[in-house]
Amino acid sequence: MLHPEIAARVLGRIWASPRIVEDFAAICATGGRFAGTESERRAVAWLAARLGEATGRPVQREAIAYRGWTRGPACVRAGGAEWPAQALGRSPATPAGGLVAPLLDLGRGTPAQIAAAGDAVRGAVVLVRHEFMLGTGHMHRRRKYEAARDAGAAAFLIACHEPGLLKVTGSAGDGGPDNIPCAGISAEAGAALARLSGERVTLFTEGVFEDRSADNLFATIDGTGEQLVVLSAHIDGHDLAQSAIDNASGLACALAVAEAARDVVPGLARGLQLALFNIEEWALLGSAAHLAALAPAERMRRVLNVNLDSVAGAEGLAALTSGVPGMAGFLRDALAPAGLDLAIAEPFFGNSDHANFLRHGIPALRLCAGFDRPGSNLRFLLTSADTPDKVRPEQLKHAASVAALIALSACAAPMAPVPRMDAATAARVTTPQA
Ligand SMILES: [Zn+2]
Repeated sequence: MLHPEIAARVLGRIWASPRIVEDFAAICATGGRFAGTESERRAVAWLAARLGEATGRPVQREAIAYRGWTRGPACVRAGGAEWPAQALGRSPATPAGGLVAPLLDLGRGTPAQIAAAGDAVRGAVVLVRHEFMLGTGHMHRRRKYEAARDAGAAAFLIACHEPGLLKVTGSAGDGGPDNIPCAGISAEAGAALARLSGERVTLFTEGVFEDRSADNLFATIDGTGEQLVVLSAHIDGHDLAQSAIDNASGLACALAVAEAARDVVPGLARGLQLALFNIEEWALLGSAAHLAALAPAERMRRVLNVNLDSVAGAEGLAALTSGVPGMAGFLRDALAPAGLDLAIAEPFFGNSDHANFLRHGIPALRLCAGFDRPGSNLRFLLTSADTPDKVRPEQLKHAASVAALIALSACAAPMAPVPRMDAATAARVTTPQA
């Protein structure tokens, strides 16, 4: 049980300090932080220094080797017109003269729709729709891409869900030899191309692969015992804008929690580890490599992961709990004494670093803003409109307050706040719904 005086002191610091707003602006000023770019390196350098300052502890860098990729220009030509496109992360390049194939509009483009299209998919440029990322029943771009690729599509186009000539981005393939060219286009381009379904279109994408390394950053504030609560946020983003909501918001909140709680945690039963993961936008590579490399005893020390990803841009927060047994009750008990609450979404969303903790049996949740609110600013995720103006200071402070209470309640609890999961339970909570 977290002592009410400690909770009050930490929350008061968060609400009184201007620092979270300054940190958010500074992180946005580093640019979109697309992995492998100068912007990402600037962000890592800034975050390493600031993490050390906020925690008052040494910062560990963990270098993760990965297959890097540099994005080149992309466009679609059809019916005498040309639309700008954004190659999805790790898309193979098309041949120099472009990839020419018939267009097949499959609407939303769920795996079921792709399967129902049968042989028509083979050799086609498949057009599907991007969806609001944080909604019940959301079908992730990656699942659509993989279904199209595995059905023999020649290429994959995904149209933005939001009007305004906003291209949509994200990653799709894993850079493997069976990957197909893939690109995001605007809603308007998608509507125009849909009228040309069945006609031949030309897709141009460029991209260069190169072996690279990216750093995860860690700082640990020890408690009185061995166990740790991990508060995480991902560093990298996309290069269309500043990746402000996704995820400068989470980074600024993690730093604010660390700064407000660093003299409190040493008196609690568990320590607090700040984990800033890189290459999250590349199918969660940074956290996957980190957890895989941990010794089993180190993994056992970690009793809870609170993952902050896109925590501002709307009023109110949701916890994506994946139905982890005991999690919802723990969260409500942690927040109720301060009069705070949050929505609980139980379906599994494998869309951020918490998923990798779950796969290792470590109870984990993602906090996010705007869940099931498609009219909120979270609709701009992965577009050129994910800019700092979409976030209000009090949204950042509210998210930091909620994250602090959850993390510190877990640090203070006499027993592990949520039971560790056996392999069968971990497999069950990380299985996507149909
Ligand atoms: Zn994110």
